[in-house]
Amino acid sequence: MIAMGTELHAQAYFEYDAKKSGGVTISHLRFGPKPIHAPYNVRAADYMAIHKPSYVHNYDMTRYLKQNAVCVINCSWDVSDLEKQLPAKMRRDLAEKKAKLYIIDATKIAVKAGLGKRINMIMQTVFFKLSAVMPYEEAVEMLKKSIKKMYGKKGDKVVKMNIDGVDASIEGIVECEVPAAWASLAIGKEASDSKGNKVAYGKGPRMFPEVQNASQFANQVQAPCNNLDGNSLPVSAFVPGGRVPCGTSQYEKRGIAIQVPKVDMDKCTQCNKCSLICPHAAVRPFLMTTQELGKAPATFKEGSRAAIGGGVLDNYQYRIQVSPWDCTGCELCVRICPADALTLGPAEKVIEEEEANWNFAVSLPDRGDEIDKTTVKGSQFQKPYLEFSGACEGCGETPHVKLMTQLFGDRLVIANATGCSSIWGGSNPSFPYTTNSKGEGPAWANSLFEDNAEFGFGMRKAFKQRRDYLAMQVEVR
Ligand code: SF4
Ligand code: SF4
Repeated sequence: MIAMGTELHAQAYFEYDAKKSGGVTISHLRFGPKPIHAPYNVRAADYMAIHKPSYVHNYDMTRYLKQNAVCVINCSWDVSDLEKQLPAKMRRDLAEKKAKLYIIDATKIAVKAGLGKRINMIMQTVFFKLSAVMPYEEAVEMLKKSIKKMYGKKGDKVVKMNIDGVDASIEGIVECEVPAAWASLAIGKEASDSKGNKVAYGKGPRMFPEVQNASQFANQVQAPCNNLDGNSLPVSAFVPGGRVPCGTSQYEKRGIAIQVPKVDMDKCTQCNKCSLICPHAAVRPFLMTTQELGKAPATFKEGSRAAIGGGVLDNYQYRIQVSPWDCTGCELCVRICPADALTLGPAEKVIEEEEANWNFAVSLPDRGDEIDKTTVKGSQFQKPYLEFSGACEGCGETPHVKLMTQLFGDRLVIANATGCSSIWGGSNPSFPYTTNSKGEGPAWANSLFEDNAEFGFGMRKAFKQRRDYLAMQVEVR
């Protein structure tokens, strides 16, 4: 828009990760009066907008900020919350760099304007207001023209919602003081591996122990990659042969949802439909004995009820439990629940209340073997071998594949056709296919775009050949 509508030259490069929901897009934007030839990422930014509050904890957001730069955070926090919410490193950088700090609740403004969770138009308006790339009035006029052009085909209502969003944006900007005392804050602890050994990444000497298990891999490789620091890892940090352990998605705990469901167990009919539809295996039913329940956190205990359905279920207590860090806030479970037992609440609050409950729930024994898995309800007591993938919010593929893993477990062999499923199914370093306590799980392999039928057929033939050979050996002897 700037390059087309003004005399200014512009350059834009967009850096993406492989996540399809809550993924990170870094927009490296440059503007200036002369043609721009800069084949490298922005490393000294005059303006930085953080579109998700969780990024302040997940990434070192301020490392590339210039002196006197502008930093804007989309969040629902008040000015008084910033001391508590912003990590020490970020606060120190802001103070040392004498940054101008602003907050805006763009999500609230978007919802009010009828835009749902889409905050792009609001954050663009804020950019023009605070970045001083061009006179703001001119920019807004251009922005409104571009809205009419972009959304005109979708009807007047959509155009109006976006224009209302633009108009409401400016009033929502809150300027915040950056206390000078933040400049002398001590910075938090370094990353450590599963045994508590310090793991060096970023600056300083690199000493990497050989990866022994998924949790060590998570600390040594996955955490730096997820912190957008993967380029700094030497080859010695990785598992020899390029292998990635299974089930590493469980360590990500991305916290990308703005709202997360909570269950009212007095309304719940124990149908397990919420678990069936969840694309991320982030809500599940759990069964426990009264003895096990004795060791549960208080709120888990309070929210458990005698399991209904007869048979073996009579031996157990039941509870629906959400993993608040892994939920994407897609609302599918809320919509499918026939009893209105699930309601959405602010993610931060639900995380505080439910994190310990989830951790307790996943430590309970797997009771899938005791239950008939050929019903909707029974299938959801089986361990999902696909969990917390980076698929889109509300993905329609993953619930089906997850159900397959529940029905066929470690006997499942997947010949995956290249497409979305190869991105959410196998993007290094986060792998959502997982194993049971014996280290056994489904086998998964990916082929090229065009040859999946032959690829799967070949796998099937190979299995048959080996089984026939085994049968022949038994018969001969
Ligand atoms: S909101 Fe979506 S991701 Fe979260 S628990 Fe419900 S279905 Fe799963
Ligand atoms: S869909 Fe609703 S009623 Fe059914 S198990 Fe989930 S919370 Fe309970």
